[in-house]
Order: sequence, then C-alpha cells, then structure tokens
Amino acid sequence: MLGIGSLPEPEAYAATVQRSAVEPQPQSPAKNRTPEDPPIRDPSRYAQTDHLRDRLTQPGRYISLPIISRAIETGQLRWNSSDGWRFVLTRDGVEFVIVVTDTETRSPVVVTGWTEVVDDDAAARSPQWTDTDIETIKLRSALSRHRESLVPDQIQPRAVCEPFRIGRHSVTTEPGCRDVVCIDCGGRFRSKSHLCEFPCSR
Ligand SMILES: [Zn+2]
Repeated sequence: MLGIGSLPEPEAYAATVQRSAVEPQPQSPAKNRTPEDPPIRDPSRYAQTDHLRDRLTQPGRYISLPIISRAIETGQLRWNSSDGWRFVLTRDGVEFVIVVTDTETRSPVVVTGWTEVVDDDAAARSPQWTDTDIETIKLRSALSRHRESLVPDQIQPRAVCEPFRIGRHSVTTEPGCRDVVCIDCGGRFRSKSHLCEFPCSR
C-alpha cells in the first residue's frame, strides 16, 4: 500500500481526513468522487451562488430556501449532460428544478433554480397556485426555453397582471398581446435575450 506522502495532494488530503475522522459520516463525500457520482442529500453542505440569492428575492420565481432543502433531501435526481446534476421536486403539477455543481468536492454549490408547470390540471386544482402563478411560470418557461428567439406566439395567450422580474425589467402581459411590457421603463420585449441585454431606464 502507498503511503500518504506518495499520493497526489487531493487524495492525500482526503486520506488524512478519513483517517482522522472518529466516525465516518455516511453523507460525507468520499475520496475519488467524480462529477458523475450522485450528489449528497444534505442541504447544509451546499453553498449558494450570488446568482441564486438574487433569484430567491425575485417575484414570480417561486424558489425558496425551504424548497431547495426539500429538493436536495427528497427530490428526484436527474443528470443533465451539459449542466450536471439537478434535484427535481414536484408539487401540485409544478416542478421545482434545482441545479447543483461541484458535487464531487467537499463544497458543493446550488447554482440556480426555476419552476415549470408539468401537469396543467393538477396545478389548476391546487390551492397552492393562483391563475397568475401558473401563467407566470408558463411565460417564464417559454421565454427561457427559447432564449435567443422572439416568441410572440407563446406570449400571446398568456395573462400576467402581477409583474415579475426578467433581467432588470418587471414585466406583465395581457391576453392577445404579443409582447411582455416593463412597468418601469415601458419597454416591450419578445425574447429573453433582449430582456437581459437592454437595461431598464427606471
Ligand atoms: Zn424596464
């Protein structure tokens, strides 16, 4: 068996930690973890990005710290070949998708999160979601799914009377309107990339 001194530094560190631990924690990341290994389900081990913290306060995003914790503990695990691991919690017809990274390290990170309506009937029946909530989630999904494209046909059927944030704008839309309109600057937009590109002149 090789001595600790002959191992490359990260492995040597991991070996030291394991040997000094009084009792190995079942959820402690093992050495030689890879990005493909399923992430740990202990929310307290995850740091948060500024990007995520910003989103937690935005109207119309419906992601909260308790939701993130629950998703990490009990959500379905999905592997995405471009972004890595996601925890997905489904409640009343809506999926909460929580994206994590650095899961092979001892400092995993929650990167971002969003919601998607996956069952129209269940969402409509649920007291958890108002019609505006459901419309907001669907509109945000349509804009995000085709970030660079103009999507007037997907904006047109949506009705969102309470403004929600995309980029720096707070937008609403009425049924039949093919734009989202910023209540602060009056800007009209048909794509997420334009919303994120153009500053709000509020
Ligand atoms: Zn604006």
